[in-house]
Formats: sequence, C-alpha cells, structure tokens
Amino acid sequence: MPKLIPVPDELSQPFWDAVQQRKLLVQRCTACSTLQYPPKAACQECNATTLEWHETDGKGHVLEFVVLQDTHLPFRGPDQPINLAIVTLDEDPRINFFSNMPGEEPFKVPVGVAVEVMFEELTDGSLIHEWRRAQ
Ligand SMILES: [Zn+2]
Repeated sequence: MPKLIPVPDELSQPFWDAVQQRKLLVQRCTACSTLQYPPKAACQECNATTLEWHETDGKGHVLEFVVLQDTHLPFRGPDQPINLAIVTLDEDPRINFFSNMPGEEPFKVPVGVAVEVMFEELTDGSLIHEWRRAQ
C-alpha cells in the first residue's frame, strides 16, 4: 500500500527539502532561541518572526503511542493495526514527532526507549522521516 506522501506548503517546504537530504530540521527563533516544530510563521514563545532552520541530531525518546485499528483512510486500511508513536526530541522534549515505528509489533511500542530518526525511500524515490530504536 502506498504511504501517505506529505504535501509541503510554503512554511514546511524547507523541512521537506532537508528530509530529502536525510536531515531533520526544526525552527529556531533568533530572538529567544526557542525551538519549534511543526513550522509556524512566528515564534510560539515571543511571537518574533525572525525564525531560522536548525538541524537536529535526530535523537529522541518514545513518550507514548496509540494504535490505529479502525481508520477510515482506505489506503491505510490494509496496514492496520498501525502503531503511532509520539517521539520527543532530546534537544527539546516539548517538540513531538509522530511515527509508525517500523519494525515494532503492533501494541508493543517500547515507551521510554531511545530512538533515532531514519529516512525511508518511497516508491517515487522521495524520502520520509521515521523513527527507530537507537543503534
Ligand atoms: Zn522567540
């Protein structure tokens, strides 16, 4: 089944361009140094619009997970049940990413474990970011 391919908008285009180069970026406010993701037009802390892109080290921890068993997305139906892990970024645990945690059995996502970003190539040759146990 084809994976959901994200459609970048103006704000997220630099993030997705970086993913294609196997880099994980978040925004950083040049006024107060807050990191944030997903990308926004202004800083969530001080509302400054002077944001730059910061390359993370791609390390995090699994905070929690849910399992999708009854999604109405027809292209994901055959893949169910689908783990959906919430990963916090080690550089700033306020930043969360969602990932299906490939390689982990449904309902058995290891909460608390250290993870690292990985990049999976889709059938069209583009890359998406996912998370796996740190190696
Ligand atoms: Zn700020």
